[in-house]
Parts: sequence; C-alpha cells; structure tokens
Amino acid sequence: MPSDGHLPLKETDTLLVIGGGQAAAQTIASARQWGFGGKIHLIGDEDALPYQRPPLSKAYLKGEMTEDRLYFKPADWYAEQNVELSLGVRAETIDRATQTVRLSNGTTASYDALLLATGSRPRALPTAGATLEGVHELRDLRDVDGLKPVVTSGQNMVIVGAGYIGLEAAAVARQLGANVTVLEMAPRVLARVTSPVMSEFYTKLHEDHGVKILTDTRLERLTGTDGTIRSAELSDGTRIEADIVLVGIGVLPNQELAEAAGLDCEGGILVDEDARTSDERIFAAGDCTIRPLVHYGRMGRLESVHNAIEQGKLVAAALVGRERPKLDVPWFWSDQYEVKLQIAGLSNDYDDYIVRGEPDSGSFAVFYFRAGRLIAVDAVNAAPEFIVTKKLIISGQTLAPALLQDTSVSMKELAALAAA
Ligand code: FAD
Ligand code: NAP
Repeated sequence: MPSDGHLPLKETDTLLVIGGGQAAAQTIASARQWGFGGKIHLIGDEDALPYQRPPLSKAYLKGEMTEDRLYFKPADWYAEQNVELSLGVRAETIDRATQTVRLSNGTTASYDALLLATGSRPRALPTAGATLEGVHELRDLRDVDGLKPVVTSGQNMVIVGAGYIGLEAAAVARQLGANVTVLEMAPRVLARVTSPVMSEFYTKLHEDHGVKILTDTRLERLTGTDGTIRSAELSDGTRIEADIVLVGIGVLPNQELAEAAGLDCEGGILVDEDARTSDERIFAAGDCTIRPLVHYGRMGRLESVHNAIEQGKLVAAALVGRERPKLDVPWFWSDQYEVKLQIAGLSNDYDDYIVRGEPDSGSFAVFYFRAGRLIAVDAVNAAPEFIVTKKLIISGQTLAPALLQDTSVSMKELAALAAA
C-alpha cells in the first residue's frame, strides 16, 4: 500500500494522463474499475481515440480490420466514465511546483497525480534520402493509413530493419503481393530479441514466402526522382529498385518532457516497482520507462503491450491505495503468416539453450538457461510451452534441459515434475 500523504487520491482530486496509448488506457480503465471517482483528464497528441498498436503491422495493414475495432473503448465510454479527452493536443512542459502542465492549445491543466505514458517514437533513418516521398515509418494509425494504399501487388518494397516491424510488415506485404526485400545490418534477423536458431527459422519462413532477406547489409542511401523514392543503394554498390521504403530500425523512449521537468531519466524515465518516478506525484508507464525487472534482478526498458498493461495496473493500484498487483514475467508475441511466436521471459543473457521439437515441423520451442536456471522460452505455434514456462519462471522453478527436450513427455507432465 502506498504511504504517501496525497494517496490514495480523493474524489476531489484530478488524475492527469499524458499520452493516449496502451499504458494510459489501462491506467484509466483500472482506476475507474477500482473505484477512483475523481476527475480524469487525458491529453493525447494523436487525433484518434486511444487505440491498440499491434494490429497496425498485422490485420489493419492487411485491410482486415477497421479503425473503430482498434479503439480500446468507444467515445461514449469516456463520457460515461467522466474522462475528459483532449485529443490532438500535446503536453509541452510540466511545472512540478504548481502541479500544472502547459498544453499546445495554449491552456494549462492541473493535477494531483500525473501519469506520463508518452510511449516511444521510431528511430530516424540516418541516411541520405530518408525524407523522400514513399519512405514510411510505422508507429501510428496515420502512418498505416499512408502505407496501406501503396502496399499492393507488384510494388517493390524495401524494408530497412529486420526487427518485429520489418518482419511483420514483410509478411503482410507479401500476402498482398508486393515484392519485398528486407535489409538488416546485423548478421541475422530479430537479433535484438532472439537466438540464432529462431533467426534461422524466421529467415527460412520469409524466404519460403518469397521475401529477399539481406543480412550484414548496410544501406548507403535512398535515391529518387522529383522527390519520390526510386531505389535503395547498398554500401557494396548494389542498387535495389524501390517504390516504397519502410523503416523499422527501433524506437527511442519519449522521455524529454520528464527530463525537462527534472525527473530522473536514463534511457527512459526511471520508475520504481509501483511505476512511480523520482517525483512522488508523477508516475510513468509503458515504453517510455526504465523499470525494475523483478524476476531478473535488474532495471530495463520493455517495449510491449504486456508491459504497458502491467505498469498501467501498478499505477492505478497505487493511486487508489490498492495492494500492488502480482508481477508477471515479461511476455511478447508476434504473428507472421500462419506462425504465432510467443515469448515468455527475457533471454538476452542466456548461457545455454535447448530446442524442443523440430523447427521444420513448424511447431517447436527454444528454452533459455542462465547458470542452470530457466529464464525464457520462444514458443513457435507451441502454446503449452509458453504457458508452462511463464508459470515456472514466476515461481522460480526450473527443469533440466534433457527433460525439456523429451517431446514424449507433455508440458503438463513436465510442469508437475517441476512442482514435485
Ligand atoms: P504508445 O502506445 O506509443 O502511446 C503513447 C502515446 O503518447 C502516443 O499516442 C504518443 O503520440 C503520445 N504522446 C507522446 N508524447 C506526448 C505528449 N507530449 N503529449 C501528448 N501525447 C503524447 N507489442 C506487443 O507486445 N505485441 C505486438 O504484437 C506488438 N505489435 C506492435 C506493432 C506496431 C506497429 C507497433 C508500433 C508496436 C507494437 N507493439 C507490440 C508494441 C506496443 O504497441 C507498445 O509497446 C505499446 O503501445 C506501448 O504503449 P505505451 O502506452 O507505452 O505507448
Ligand atoms: P526493433 O525490434 O528494435 O528492430 C529494429 C531492427 O533494425 C534491429 O534488428 C536493428 O538492429 C535494425 N537496424 C537498426 N538500424 C538499422 C539500419 N540503419 N539499417 C538496417 N537495420 C537497422 O524495432 P522495430 O522492429 O522498429 O519495432 C519498433 C517497436 O515496435 C519496438 O518497440 C517493437 O517492440 C515494437 N513492435 C513489436 C511487435 C511485437 O511485439 N510483435 C511488432 C511490431 C512492433 P540492431 O538491433 O543491431 O540495432
């Protein structure tokens, strides 16, 4: 339970939320669900109602989902819940002494508690030609509204970066009939988030669908005619024809507002286990934070829906004086073609791994260990492996690699062995 004098919030208090994404939406929903009856005011610089981003590189890009299905809540929910929405409005500065925030529409909003849920923004392509017409990034709804009409059959699409954005968009673009080439500087795809076995699987998956994947490849420049993209030139002199370029080379946390207000930041806004910043009246949640990763004994920045939801609930619990919700292990998913990847835990510093099942079968899992302890799993079309491992990591249990490799024993049976 929070011990600060100003918490729990009173009915006469105002919660001001900056940012209208996943973390903001969760905080607001949970705060209302858990009984906060005071004023809530959301400031979001996008023009849409708060919406979920995952479909942007999947079903929405493919044209299988309409905009209204992306919204967390319909417009009347906010009215019913007495949540004031200021959309298309940017928070410009925070004055901690007066507990006010100056907004881009010339007004000032005040707070008793403030949530920074400002998310992250795409890293800009540091290459000549990056501003040519036809060069896109994929972060928000309007980015996809610009991209969707041009990703069509026969178009030559060059994707820079083989991370989640690059590969998910490559899968959709292929399914829409575009000719896709992916450029990646690293020696393998998804290098930041997974192991060589998985990278190999995803490279083959995409190549089997006709995507050209070029790793260890540096983009030298983008060139165009009359301001419009025409080709991508690689450092070895190769020129690739391009009608569309999509840049997906990672994100940067939106921490500048917090930094300017004197809050502690270090590659993200620093928060504690309750998602509180260095100012006890100001919380931060989602992509913009560096948070304690309790199952791993270190601080880290997570860029995922699960993280935004979990921190949103932590903030709401602290605001209403509710016990801190139990912390899950970080988890992620990615959909490409018919393949569902589910990741539980963080594998970054693994020193051993085993593969359960055959990658060629299309259903398998890679389990990661550190000093003999199970720390993460990448499960490909293998839901039981994902679910059981998540539970094992939370409870600090482990299983011997040899046991996990034996596919004649089900994950349910293995879980029982771990508990015994
Ligand atoms: P955001 O959702 O980015 O929201 C932040 C909001 O704050 C934005 O609207 C921003 O414009 C606004 N803002 C910033 N500064 C200000 C300001 N000063 N004033 C007002 N408003 C401001 N994660 C998964 O786990 N699984 C997936 O499959 C997955 N797919 C994804 C696909 C795409 C295309 C993208 C872009 C992301 C995906 N993610 C996925 C990541 C996930 O969506 C993010 O981790 C999540 O949205 C983070 O939520 P957030 O609230 O921290 O930030
Ligand atoms: P990402 O996962 O960090 O991948 C970016 C990739 O681009 C990395 O492999 C990076 O290599 C590479 N890269 C960096 N600079 C490059 C350059 N100049 N040329 C070629 N390659 C370069 O980020 P993302 O794919 O852009 O995704 C953006 C955000 O959306 C992330 O927060 C991501 O988690 C989120 N997202 C998540 C999902 C999901 O969870 N399913 C789906 C879509 C988006 P280095 O690592 O070596 O820098």
